[in-house]
Amino acid sequence: MGSKLSWPCVRQSCLLATLVFIVLLLTLLPLKIDKEHRAFTNFVRAKHVVPSYVELLGKSLYLHDIIDFDSTLLAPVKLDPSRLLLPPGGTLLPEEEQIIRYFDYLYSSKKIAVRDAFIYIGLYKSNAFYVATPLPEEVKSRLMNKQNSANEFCQRLKYCSKDASAESLADDIVLSTPYLDEITGDIILSMAAPISSSHEPEHLLGDVIADTSFMASDFMQGKVFEIQHSGYGTEIVITGDSLWTRITPDFLFYAMSDHLDNLSFLTYKISVLRFVMLYFPLWLLLSTVIMIYQIKLNNIKQLRVDRQRFREAMLLDPSTKIYNKKVYETLIFKAVIASQYAVICIDGDKIKTINDSYGHKLGDMAIMQIVEAMRAVFRESDILIRTGGDEFVVILANCPVAKALQLADKLKDNIAQRHFLNMLTVSCGVADSTDYSSFDAVLQAADKALYADKAQKRGHAGDDVLR
Ligand code: GH3
Ligand code: MG
Repeated sequence: MGSKLSWPCVRQSCLLATLVFIVLLLTLLPLKIDKEHRAFTNFVRAKHVVPSYVELLGKSLYLHDIIDFDSTLLAPVKLDPSRLLLPPGGTLLPEEEQIIRYFDYLYSSKKIAVRDAFIYIGLYKSNAFYVATPLPEEVKSRLMNKQNSANEFCQRLKYCSKDASAESLADDIVLSTPYLDEITGDIILSMAAPISSSHEPEHLLGDVIADTSFMASDFMQGKVFEIQHSGYGTEIVITGDSLWTRITPDFLFYAMSDHLDNLSFLTYKISVLRFVMLYFPLWLLLSTVIMIYQIKLNNIKQLRVDRQRFREAMLLDPSTKIYNKKVYETLIFKAVIASQYAVICIDGDKIKTINDSYGHKLGDMAIMQIVEAMRAVFRESDILIRTGGDEFVVILANCPVAKALQLADKLKDNIAQRHFLNMLTVSCGVADSTDYSSFDAVLQAADKALYADKAQKRGHAGDDVLR
């Protein structure tokens, strides 16, 4: 027993699961976006440490007259040749040496810990590099072998201050786009701040540069980026690297942006489609649970209907479909007899004769004729009961005895008009609840009246028509 999986049940479950899923997504999506937003902000802020620091060094170098700087302060600062990368045959100009010593002085005196950044100076005239912290020998020799020069390097990576537009230099910082560094194999973002003399602010001598590994942070794990140039500057667009992100249409992305400098900004786009697909198994689970629940619920409902039908069937007379005597045990009966009511007892006349003369089939039809007539005469709310073979009881709620007597006559008329075998009639007896204290007493009184009706008819035994 039990209802099976049907298409309407599957459809309904899927629909319900989808609705619950949508509500769940609408709740979870803002939380997810908020979490991603915080991770993105942390990432940009961490990167921001470097530009602001580089800018600080660059501005310091710009604001002071390096050449005329108080030599007593610089006197103890010695140029460290192991950190100088000079192209073969190149010579360091005195003013450049002064810059390097000044950079060292500032860098060491500021004592700002810049983690995950590689800081150095590029000088345009001598083409030399000077690194803030000593380089491993192996890296240094690889750099020298590549014959990199400061000019070539910064021109290739497009962060040279001397080549930058006035607009880009407005904030004293020039940003490269992320690029693959041949030495480390890392994706690097370079940030440069111009170095100039206050004698000739327009004349740029080099850059203070910080390289950060763009992909190294936890935030960038499993992400890809692409660079877009627009009228507003350079946009680095970061997205996830999953298949779902790649096939997400533009309108299903949620984007957030933050500036790196005045012309470069980072945009992080979250694929809403990927988020939905991530939670798709939840939808499946929901559909299955709802489906199982629905099947169980349907089974319970079916059981209830079956029980109800069974109970009703138990109360009905199988051939006439009106109540049998069991109705006396139900609430339907108890509710009717709780206030005033009338009872009519009915008995078919000479049914035995019909049986004997015309056969049982016509005897059955005679009983059905009586029931049809009862249905036509009495109200829906009246209780029609077959109490025996050709015996019936009708309980009429809130019905005065005069009305009940009228209805009994109406029933007799209705049956007579059917002219069934030209002989079918009934006898009736009526009683009213106001005259008796119990239902049994009312029933007995009605039965007595029926008996009187029959007896009166027997007095006309010689008549052709039994009425
Ligand atoms: P009376 O006028 O005195 O009521 O005579 P009667 O023949 O109707 O006899 P009575 O009421 O005493 O008995 C009812 C008879 O009705 C008995 C039986 O032969 C017949 N009868 C009862 N139930 C059925 C039924 O379901 N089908 C048929 N064909 N006959 C029935
Ligand atoms: Mg009878």
